[in-house]
Amino acid sequence: MNNIYNYKMSDLENYLLNIGEKKYKAKQIYDWLYMKKVKSFDSMTNLKKDLIAKLKEDFNFDYISIKKKQKSSLTNKYLFSLKDGNLIEAVLMRHDYGISVCVSSQVGCNMGCKFCESGRLKKVRDLESYEIVEQILLIEEDIKKRVSSVVIMGIGEPFDNYDNIMNFIRIINDPFGINIGARHITVSTCGLIPKIDKFSEENLQVNLAISLHAPNNNIRNNIMNVNKAYSVDELIECLKRYIAKTNRRVTIEYVMLNSVNDSYDNAIELARLIKGMNVYVNLIPYNETSHIEFKKSSKDTIMKFYDILKKNGINVTIRKEFGGSIDAACGQLRAKEVE
Ligand code: SAH
Repeated sequence: MNNIYNYKMSDLENYLLNIGEKKYKAKQIYDWLYMKKVKSFDSMTNLKKDLIAKLKEDFNFDYISIKKKQKSSLTNKYLFSLKDGNLIEAVLMRHDYGISVCVSSQVGCNMGCKFCESGRLKKVRDLESYEIVEQILLIEEDIKKRVSSVVIMGIGEPFDNYDNIMNFIRIINDPFGINIGARHITVSTCGLIPKIDKFSEENLQVNLAISLHAPNNNIRNNIMNVNKAYSVDELIECLKRYIAKTNRRVTIEYVMLNSVNDSYDNAIELARLIKGMNVYVNLIPYNETSHIEFKKSSKDTIMKFYDILKKNGINVTIRKEFGGSIDAACGQLRAKEVE
């Protein structure tokens, strides 16, 4: 039996047409689910009894649940327990412009980035769309406020769970549902080229972020296993195709690792690599983890790196640090719980 929160509007409309119902009822159901936020078909009082009975036969309302919550002034960190007992996490961040939530896309991760905590647990399974949708619904319920933007940067590689992620995006983007504008949704990938190409065909105004983290194959091979399958030059070519096709600016994520990728030469090489492309670089202060071989770059080094990129005509920002004190970075809460 399928979970009702796995259904995007068009799927629900097709389902209704197939059982001889009017398609507009999908909008009524979405209104109950995402505006009125009821948790049973019996509460959908403008639907006829026989339709309610049929929906109950065909769908379930299974929910993930909040197992643990940690709060600081700018961040809430949620540890969720799935129906099968697996644990995932999401992080809420309070910005001047609203509230953003970082959701997980898989239980564990197979990408094997050397500095990242999420990969400590190999992928157990992909998340279904409903399990990602409900991360947002449960957080909105908890804070009694609307979430205004979503980043798919929690545990997992979203493009290794491509179909469920696209479905999830369409569900939260629906104007009759949670209604998060596509421009307020960001998907981050370590660089699975065939999926980036596929993504460029989706006709979605969703932001794409690429975890580049290195200006050349030498460094990237050492810190990211995925580079052995898809090299820096192939990735850059792919991004050029993506930008030409979608006309959208791409974010280049670059985590600042002390003495690994943060030198003057690294900055110059990065600037050369992406010069003239419609991208901007987001420098990410590294959040130190149990991978003790990696340390964060000093503030001074980050500022210098920033200046070199700027001087070389690259758009660049430094990511504000969120949640370090509550293990709110990248699989840390979960890792502590499981070990
Ligand atoms: N798998 C996807 C999305 C999840 S990771 C991807 O690789 O993009 C989200 C971002 O956080 C990635 O850029 C990742 O490299 C980065 N990251 C992982 N561990 C980190 C840490 N300890 N501190 C700072 N950034 C980290």
